[in-house]
Amino acid sequence: MADTVEKVSTTEASSSSAEAPIPAEITEPTTTEKTKWGDVEDDDEEEANAVSELNSLTIKEESVLDEPEDSSIKAVTSGETPYTSASRFEDLNLSPELMKGLYVEMKFEKPSKIQAISLPMIITPPHKHLIAQAHNGSGKTTCFVLGMLSRVDPSLREPQALCICPTRELAIQNMEVLQKMGKFTGITAELAVPESNHGVTSARRAHVSAQVVIGTPGTLKKWIAFKKLGLNHLKILVFDEADHMLATDGFRDDSLRIMKDIERVNPKYQVLLFSATFNETVKDFVQRTVKDPNQLFVKREDLKLDSVKQYKVVCPREQNKIEVIKDQIMELGDIGQTIIFVKTKVSAGKVHKALADMGYDVTSVHGNMTQEDRDKKVKEFKDCLTQVLIATDVLARGFDQQRVNLVVNYNLPTKYDTGEPDYEVYLHRVGRAGRFGRKGAVFNLLLDDRREIEVMEKIERYFEAQVKEIKSWNSEEEYKSALKEAGLLDE
Ligand code: ADP
Ligand code: MG
Repeated sequence: MADTVEKVSTTEASSSSAEAPIPAEITEPTTTEKTKWGDVEDDDEEEANAVSELNSLTIKEESVLDEPEDSSIKAVTSGETPYTSASRFEDLNLSPELMKGLYVEMKFEKPSKIQAISLPMIITPPHKHLIAQAHNGSGKTTCFVLGMLSRVDPSLREPQALCICPTRELAIQNMEVLQKMGKFTGITAELAVPESNHGVTSARRAHVSAQVVIGTPGTLKKWIAFKKLGLNHLKILVFDEADHMLATDGFRDDSLRIMKDIERVNPKYQVLLFSATFNETVKDFVQRTVKDPNQLFVKREDLKLDSVKQYKVVCPREQNKIEVIKDQIMELGDIGQTIIFVKTKVSAGKVHKALADMGYDVTSVHGNMTQEDRDKKVKEFKDCLTQVLIATDVLARGFDQQRVNLVVNYNLPTKYDTGEPDYEVYLHRVGRAGRFGRKGAVFNLLLDDRREIEVMEKIERYFEAQVKEIKSWNSEEEYKSALKEAGLLDE
């Protein structure tokens, strides 16, 4: 476990570092996407030259909690600006109000590694763009929330920071973090998700005067089109789950549209892109789209969370999967909260019914529910009123609930068109457990057929992950020892 962070610096390719971030190619139409998780009702279908290590980026390890292994983050900084990583929040020159938010409200003690490295890059002029990859649960939200809050001028009652998220759940969650962290700043914020207007259409709603706006692309696009959300004072644009926001099977068209709209009136704005995953295709696109950014990347095989143990079980029949959940998981008693991921809302309904029929108290969240119902179920789970949540991939990314110790993949994530494994979604699902270095376990339930077993094998190879097999699907002893090994059950 190395505890240093490597910094790779590049000599700037061009002299104009603050040039327009959007190149010509983004005006070209891109393929229409189908995996739009957030904003549609029906949504589960959904380099560097010189290398030099800088001692300033060596971060001391002394946290109480073992945070995820960010040791492998590589930074590519663009231009002459030297950045010193912040080992304490005090090193960031934040306002006293923000410091109070961090210590009193958030109860944070010191920045995580990604925060220590990225925050100086975000906050220091000339406020360069940033593409940042870091582990699930490593604290990326704080990076961009602090970035937004510290760049807003509180005396100007106009939108100055915009954060775009793939799902309403994530937009709501990010808003909660922003309001908590920014509690003492007086900075105003508004949520832009479907129906957050209580029936008032985008065309008729009032102008947005909130200084920070967080939302999903469809609603944001409408507000912008109806000139309700002015972009003239916008300084900073954030993409959470940025790889999905800029993927062709995600929200690329909407994201590019919004970037272009901002750029037209405000060429010098700053773009921040955060995600735990950037596959080569998206990485390449993002690097071509965002000009001259600072960059932080993690190697694929280093992205696994060491604190979360992964297991697989081969079940002879579909019904056995339910039995595993019932007999081996629900009956275990207190091992924290569990999320069961299913592929479609149909399977969500089936699993839910099967477990409810046996008298278990479970809830589900998927795209076929009303927005209100969805919000309610998520809130109940966040408030720990429910212990087991069945979810489609609407919750695969970003969802942060520290008490989730167990993730069950009832179906493995695969791409709709090809049936190939969806590696990114797999990693994100795993990352719902083990938040900020906590312990966790993942059970992958596989049917005894070649296809499912092959998908699992491909995922293991892709991440160079060791996924241990539970040899007999109905052996209580094996599950118990797995959970003990994962640190979720006492010896
Ligand atoms: P991700 O990188 O996956 O977006 P989050 O930003 O959701 O991760 O953070 C994961 C959890 O870690 C959250 O519950 C958050 O409150 C907590 N966290 C983030 N930064 C710190 C910190 N500096 N100290 C303690 N806890 C933190
Ligand atoms: Mg996140």
